[in-house]
Amino acid sequence: MTTTNDIKPWLFRVEPMEGESLSHFLGRVRQRNHISANALGQMAGIGAIIARWERFHLIPFPSDADLTALGEVVGVDGEKLRLMLPPQGEGMQFDPIRLCGACYGELPCHKIEWQFKSVWMCERHGLKLLSKCPKCGKKFKIPALWEFGECAAEGTRCDRCRLSFVDMKDNQKSS
Ligand SMILES: [Zn+2]
Ligand SMILES: [Zn+2]
Repeated sequence: MTTTNDIKPWLFRVEPMEGESLSHFLGRVRQRNHISANALGQMAGIGAIIARWERFHLIPFPSDADLTALGEVVGVDGEKLRLMLPPQGEGMQFDPIRLCGACYGELPCHKIEWQFKSVWMCERHGLKLLSKCPKCGKKFKIPALWEFGECAAEGTRCDRCRLSFVDMKDNQKSS
């Protein structure tokens, strides 16, 4: 593929959601535009690091220059992308992926704060976060691989037992 720097590839824009994690946002951008993580990295001129970011492997931490370059391709300010990552000094847990089903029912996205080491419960709902499907025990996929938009008409589900993320709230313990 040959591209010149003054031709910007055009992507369908995807609006970020409140508190959304970078992994979930990039997954939506890629699905909407039918492109791979590597293709997106190439368009932004930042190489093959998108797939690592989608797994929350953030060492070395994404630079402002990288986020600005990616932001130009996806049509979102680099600073806004930065907010989809943990703030400086906040420990990050990339495994397991965690979920508040009650939050997901209100806004269908994976929130970055669920992966903070310091966070074990959803303060909004007073519920402990789930780290696996409460019915069958399957761990959640990385958010970039969740189901989005029209694919998620019935909501994202456990990929083994098909329990919906929204219904998982009934199994969350109050803290
Ligand atoms: Zn919640
Ligand atoms: Zn399950």
